[in-house]
Amino acid sequence: MSQSATLNEPAPRTTEHFDVLIVGAGISGVGGAYHLTKQCPEKSFVVLEGLESFGGTWLMHKYPGIRSDSDLYTFGYRFKPWTGAPIATAAEIRKYMGEVIDENDLAPHIRYRHRILTASWSSADNLWTIDAVRSDTGERFRFTANFLWMCQGYYRHSQGYTPDWPGMDRFTGRIVHPQTWPEDLDYTGKNVIVIGSGATTATLVPAIAGDCAHVTVLQRSPTYFWTGRNDNELADTLRELEIPEEWIHEIVRRKILHDQEAITRLSFEEPEFMKAELINGIRPYLPPDYDIETHFTPKYRPWRQRLAFVPDADLFKGIASGQASMITDEIEAFTEKGILLKSGKELEADIIVTATGFNLCVLGDITFTIDGQPLVFSDTVTYRGMMFTGVPNMLWVFGYFRASWTLRADMISDFVCRLLHHMDELGAKRVTPALRPVDADMPILPWIDPENFNPGYLMRSMHLLPRRGDKPEWQHTQDYWTEKDVLPAADLDDGCLVYE
Ligand SMILES: Cc1cc2nc3c(=O)[nH]c(=O)nc-3n(C[C@H](O)[C@H](O)[C@H](O)COP(=O)(O)OP(=O)(O)OC[C@H]3O[C@@H](n4cnc5c(N)ncnc54)[C@H](O)[C@@H]3O)c2cc1C
Repeated sequence: MSQSATLNEPAPRTTEHFDVLIVGAGISGVGGAYHLTKQCPEKSFVVLEGLESFGGTWLMHKYPGIRSDSDLYTFGYRFKPWTGAPIATAAEIRKYMGEVIDENDLAPHIRYRHRILTASWSSADNLWTIDAVRSDTGERFRFTANFLWMCQGYYRHSQGYTPDWPGMDRFTGRIVHPQTWPEDLDYTGKNVIVIGSGATTATLVPAIAGDCAHVTVLQRSPTYFWTGRNDNELADTLRELEIPEEWIHEIVRRKILHDQEAITRLSFEEPEFMKAELINGIRPYLPPDYDIETHFTPKYRPWRQRLAFVPDADLFKGIASGQASMITDEIEAFTEKGILLKSGKELEADIIVTATGFNLCVLGDITFTIDGQPLVFSDTVTYRGMMFTGVPNMLWVFGYFRASWTLRADMISDFVCRLLHHMDELGAKRVTPALRPVDADMPILPWIDPENFNPGYLMRSMHLLPRRGDKPEWQHTQDYWTEKDVLPAADLDDGCLVYE
């Protein structure tokens, strides 16, 4: 870095070129870097990351108890065995990612504190030009790249989603969003309300309940939870038999994915049975007279929103012990002392935590242009949930809702490497998805069918997302079990991808 760099320095002085530029050093970007080094060692590449280190989601979120709700056998990469308990803390996930970086000498490829501001495609040069700014010095950098690999995640990291409730400014306590958890927040002996019913609430509440005077979970509607011990019996048995960790990783992944497929299928085919199974699964951990109907019986069919896993039933144990309680009601307004509910009841609190979700952020808040024209992302149609019509040499990673994100990140990495090799074989400098003549009458639909999956952050932002067609080539199917066979075999010459 230049010693003379000054804040808000206006223009970059040098331009560096790479074959591939990866945006983001989260689980997707670090995985992408690994696969590039193994499968395309001849390609030069750089990873630009806005934060001070790797980890993405697992670096950003610092609220008490932050942990995965997927098992790490499938959330971990397919190429690096996971040897710990299935549900992992953010620190454990970052340690694992750090090992991937060290073991594969990826660090020299990653530039931290490089926030990308703009990405401009030039068809004349077949190049992306990427302008970035260093978050600590303000120094500007320019890069060019043949291929842009977007691993920027799907939500705005700087700020979570908090609805605008009447009277919020009147509340005299503190209002906190888990995504921007203040380091100095002292909740010891305090009355805390946590608004929201998703995985964040299920993680946060057990982590703080023991220290607070009381934690009240306030939800508008219930979520499906399932619980089990935070261990994997099969993995433990295989370890006792001294099976190599690589084998254990593969065998346990297959077993978990096999079981998850059955659960997903049952959720669609026999939703009432699945609903009963889920609710009966948590019943033993709650007091006998507990009002499960009101607090833990969702109105939607299982898996239309993410199923939240509660390891070792810790959330329910907190409720059973009286340290935490659930209220299912709606907020009328905030008051000086807490929250007035539509039922007329008033809750008092010192701290209110709004575990109310994300703001979707489609392209890392980067301003995109194609040949000088602004890219209107919602005018594009997605090619297999990875690339977009009219957007050359660009691919993004969007994982699964009903299976671990990394399963898809690994498969997409294979796809990118296959595509790059194919372009080299063809001598092509540009690949652009385009609807074929046979797709002319295809209905163009929103990114995802709300009947299939409909959490709030997607429903609020559907108008920002690319669109889909009704054929597998033109949608993100969200179905790992089909895609694991289809994606590796996808025909790169079926006319959906135009090479020049
Ligand atoms: C609290 C929480 C728990 C979750 N738990 C699970 C789980 O258990 N299982 C699961 O499958 N999924 C889970 N998810 C979803 C999760 O986000 C993904 O699984 C996964 O971590 C995403 O990885 P990623 O690398 O694609 O994106 P991210 O982790 O979001 O990382 C993206 C990176 O890109 C960087 N970036 C973005 N824009 C720019 C820019 N303009 N310039 C430079 N850098 C940029 C960001 O700083 C960030 O580091 C969870 C999400 C949250 C918020």
